[in-house]
Amino acid sequence: MDSFDVLVIGGGPAGYVAAIRAAQLGFKTACVDAFERNGKASLGGTCLNVGCIPSKAMLDSSEKFEVMQHDFAEHGINVQGASLDIAKMLGRKNGVVDKLTGGVAYLFKKNKITSFFGLGRLVRADGDGWIVDAAGTEVRAARVIVATGSSPRALPLAPFGGHIVENSGALEFTAVPEKLGVIGAGVIGLELGSVWRRLGADVTVLEAMPGFLMAADDAIAKEGLKLFKKQGLDFHFGVNITAVEQDDSGVSVTYTEQDKEVTARFDKLIVSIGRVPHTQGLGADAVGLALDERGFVKVDHHYRTNLQNVYAIGDVIGGAMLAHKAEEEGVALAEMLAGQAGHVNYDVIPWVIYTSPEIAWAGLTEKQAKDRGLNIKTGQFPFSANGRALGHGDTRGFVKIIADAQTDKLLGVHMIGGGVSELIGEVVAIMEFGGSSEDLARTVHAHPTLSEVVKEAALATDKRALHM
Ligand code: FAD
Repeated sequence: MDSFDVLVIGGGPAGYVAAIRAAQLGFKTACVDAFERNGKASLGGTCLNVGCIPSKAMLDSSEKFEVMQHDFAEHGINVQGASLDIAKMLGRKNGVVDKLTGGVAYLFKKNKITSFFGLGRLVRADGDGWIVDAAGTEVRAARVIVATGSSPRALPLAPFGGHIVENSGALEFTAVPEKLGVIGAGVIGLELGSVWRRLGADVTVLEAMPGFLMAADDAIAKEGLKLFKKQGLDFHFGVNITAVEQDDSGVSVTYTEQDKEVTARFDKLIVSIGRVPHTQGLGADAVGLALDERGFVKVDHHYRTNLQNVYAIGDVIGGAMLAHKAEEEGVALAEMLAGQAGHVNYDVIPWVIYTSPEIAWAGLTEKQAKDRGLNIKTGQFPFSANGRALGHGDTRGFVKIIADAQTDKLLGVHMIGGGVSELIGEVVAIMEFGGSSEDLARTVHAHPTLSEVVKEAALATDKRALHM
C-alpha cells in the first residue's frame, strides 16, 4: 500500500494549492480529485472548470461585444456588420479553462505530487494516520486535508435540469436566450446575467432580499443598482417564488412581489441562490467527521476537524466562498503542518464583482463601522475627475475610503468603476500592514492612471483632494 505524508481530497483552489505548498515543504503528497470535464480528469475544481475562470472569459468576450456596439463610435471607430459566433466564444472560453487546468496538472508533476482521478473517501483510522480510498486504491496517509468545496444550492421548486441551470449550464448556452430569468441577485447571478444581457438577452433578476447587494457598502450598492438598471437589467426585490413550471420551450415562474402575483415566462432560468458545502462521497458519516448544522465541516483556528490528523479548508468549511480565501487557507495549513506560522487575515479579504463597472471592496462598510461604534471619517472621489478614465471613455463610479477618525487607520475601501478589481490590490496590501489613509495619500501614484482615484479618495478623507 502506498503511503503519503499528506493526502488532499479535492483539487480545487484550496486543495491543489495546499498540495503544492505541502510538496514544496518536503512532504510526500498526493491529491485525489473527482472533477471530470469531457470524460477526463480536470484539476482546478469549481473555480477553474465552471466558476471564476470560465465566467471571466465569457464576461470579457461579452464586454468586447458590448463596447464595440456602444462605445467604439465615440472613439471615431465605425464597425459594420458585427455578428456573434457563440460556438467560437464558448470554444475560446473552453481553451482558457484547458490551459489552466492543464497547468495545475503540470504543477503537480513538477512538484512530484501523486494525482488520483476519482472519489476520495476516508475509510478508517490507522494508528495516528488514515486509510483513504483514493479513486478505488487504498492508500495510507499520515494527514488528510479535506478540500471538497461546494455545489450550487438548488431551489426546491426549480430543480436543475432542462431549461433550469446552475453556473456550469449558464456558461454553456449554445444560443443567446431571448428571455433569461435569473433567480438570485448575488455575485454569480449578476455576472452571468450580465454576460447574456450584453450578448442580447432580455434579463430579469428575481431576488428574495428586500434590497440590492446588501453585503456591500450602501453607496456602492446604490450606484451599482442605478448603473445596472440603466444597462437594461430588470430587477425585482423582495419576491417570493411560488411556482416554477418547465415545458419543452421554456420555464414559467410565478412569484409575488408587494402582494401582487406575477407569472413570467423565460427561455432559460439561471438559479444562483448560493452554494452549499460538498461532503457527499467523503465517508464523513461512516468515520464520524463533525459537520455543523448547515453541513460545513467544523474546524478550529488551525483547520483541525474533530478527527485526529484530518484537516479541512476552502468552501467546505464556510466563511467567504472565494477562491483566494481557499488558496490562502491551503498555504497556511501546509505551513502549519510543517511547524511554521501559517496565517490568514480574514479581516482583509478582497471581494470583487466582475460586472461592468466592476465592484470591489475590502474591510468594513460604513454601516458596519458605525454599528461597531467606531468614530470614522470618509473620503470619496469619482472616476469622472480622472484623466485616464476620461481617456478610456469610462468615467462611471467612484472610490470611497473609510478611516478611523482618530488614528486614520484604513477600515474599509469600496470601489465601483472600470478595472477596480485590479485597484483593490494596493489597498489590501496597505490594510494588511495596518496602514492609514495618509499612507495611501502620500504614496506616489503614476499619472495618468485610474489608481490616482484611490489616492484622491484618501486625500478626501482629510478634505484635501486635489482635483475636485
Ligand atoms: P472547489 O473549487 O469546489 O473544489 C473542490 C474539488 O473537490 C472539486 O474538484 C470536486 O470535484 C472535488 N471533490 C469533491 N468531493 C470529492 C471527493 N469526495 N473526492 C474527490 N474529489 C472531490 N471565487 C473567486 O474568488 N473569484 C471569482 O471570480 C469567482 N467566480 C465564481 C464564479 C462562479 C460561476 C462560481 C460558481 C464560483 C465562483 N467563485 C469565485 C467561487 C470559487 O469558485 C470557490 O470559492 C472556489 O472554487 C472554492 O475552492 P475549493 O477548493 O474550496 O472548492
